[in-house]
This record gives sequence, structure tokens and C-alpha cells, in this order.
Amino acid sequence: MRILATLADSIFVLTALAADKAKPLEIVLAEPAAVTATNAAAWKADGFAAVALMLDERSDAAVLKTAADAAAANGLAVYLWIEVGRNVELAREHPEWMASLGMHADWQKRFPNVRPPAKGEVAKAWPWVPISYRESFAVHRQRIEKLLKRAPGGYRGVLLNDLQAGPSSCGCGNLQCRWAVDYHFPSTATIEPDAAPKFVAEVSTLIPGKEVIPVWTTECESEDLPAAKRPAGGWGTGLCGDVPCFDYCRQRFAEQWAALQKDRTGPTGLLALHRELQRDRPESDDRRPVLVEEDARRREVGFAYLSGRATKGFVDLDVVVVSTRTEVTFF
Ligand SMILES: [Zn+2]
Repeated sequence: MRILATLADSIFVLTALAADKAKPLEIVLAEPAAVTATNAAAWKADGFAAVALMLDERSDAAVLKTAADAAAANGLAVYLWIEVGRNVELAREHPEWMASLGMHADWQKRFPNVRPPAKGEVAKAWPWVPISYRESFAVHRQRIEKLLKRAPGGYRGVLLNDLQAGPSSCGCGNLQCRWAVDYHFPSTATIEPDAAPKFVAEVSTLIPGKEVIPVWTTECESEDLPAAKRPAGGWGTGLCGDVPCFDYCRQRFAEQWAALQKDRTGPTGLLALHRELQRDRPESDDRRPVLVEEDARRREVGFAYLSGRATKGFVDLDVVVVSTRTEVTFF
């Protein structure tokens, strides 16, 4: 099923707010092999302060070290980026741990070539294996512990992407619907409540003294609502089908965000891939950070959908991940 955004051999721009809010920390996300002395020098000259090296099963410790050395030699701090929830290998090995699409059937209109589930079948979002189940949680934790053995010395922290449930989690079809686990749908594994804060805490114990930065995806927006629920004359995306759950989903988002922040003081990332999450609508403003919530530390958080030519983040949050024009693939 072609519904998920992936992080291919791409370079993103991460923007993090340092203690001095006027000068955000900007991090380049890159494949380790791309971190050459020439590139590192160019990024430094561009004003970046750090590089995040993508770390997965393909990563070679020697290549990571070369990359980290090149970054350090050019005055760039080093972070590691690990994609968690989207995992092809685990999805193949354990389809029972994959995220389900929930009770609403609206996703089928968006993906008409997929055979609808028959009686006794459940629909899953390939290849999404969230940490939301006790079984997958444990395996993801082990995976990260194993991957971190390849980490170069001296890195500052780890960014963990996709710690929420799978996309279209209620079945609406919206890729940003990440709040639900087996929404009125039979579970094929054991649900682990509040998995993300537990996961961040466990990874933190693996690497004392390093930052662990969860990267969060925001929920649906008011223009995703069905026409009857939107202001008259307003434009809509149709991304939520006929599901009018905007307020309900927002509340669940806020609860999960609060749970994530409860015992943490470190930064949190916000994934704002405006194209991959289908926010690049011609009707929307060119640059439009819409802030809708306050978190437990009274920071405004929420939607950061940037349409048009965005290459950097604008939202007052710790870390904002924004795609560059050409270098994120969607499949
Ligand atoms: Zn939904």
C-alpha cells in the first residue's frame, strides 16, 4: 500500500531552538556517506551547527566515524537519527505487530486498488510497526541498543522518529492520524499504553548523558474535515474522508503530547513534512505555522504545515523537521 512517507537518502533541515531563542540550532540530516569534508564545510558556512547521521541496519561503523570526524573537524556537532515505527524488515517478519487502519473505511476511497478486508481480516498499514505493542516495543528497544553500538564517539544525542501509532490510525485515510491503536478493531498484539514516553525513557537509560529527542507528527487539521463540518465556503482537503473527528483527535493528541512531556525536560522534535503529509495545498498560505495547543510547559505546540517552498522550520518549538524541496521521497 502506497501510503507512507519514508526517509530515503535525503537531507533534511532540522531547526532546534537553543537556549538563546533568537539563534535556533540548525541541523542537517544526512546519510553518513554524504558527510564529506567538503559538504561539512559548506553546511558550516551555511550556518548549520550540527549534522544528524541516519543510523540503521545499513550503517557501517567506519563510515559513521568518518562522517562524525568530518563534521567535528568543521565545527559541527553530531546527532544520530533513527527511524523507528516504519520498518520493512519487522513488518515482513511480524505482520501481527503492524499498525491497523481502524474501524473507519474512508481510507479505502483514497486507496481504491487495495482489496478491502474480508470478514475476519484486519487492515494494516504497510510497513508500519509502531512501538504501541508490548511485543514490538521490546524488539524496537533491542534494535536501538544494537544500532547504537555502531555509533561514533562524541555524538550529542539521538533523534527518534515515528514513536506514535501508524498513519490513518482511525481508518480515515489521513496520514497524520497517528493517535489510535486498533481503533474499534481487533488487536493482533498486546497494546502497551503510553508507549512513547516509556520508550524515550528506556532509550535514555541506554545512553546516559546524551539527548534523546522524540520527533512527533501532528494530527489532522480543520480543513481535513468533511465539507458539512467546515465553515461554509471554506476549502477542504478531504484527507479525513467523512470522519468528523477533528476535535476528538486533537484532544487525544494533546493527551499523548502531555504524557510524552510529563517527566522530560529535553527538546522534542516536530515533523513538518509539508509535501509528504499532503499539506502543500494551493489554497493554503505560503508560510503558515498554526499553533493550536499549549503543552505542559506552556509552550504553544501544534500544526506546522508549511506549503510552498519551505526549507526551514518557523515554529517556536525545540526541533522542527522540514523537508527540503527535492530530497524527500514519498511512496
Ligand atoms: Zn483519523
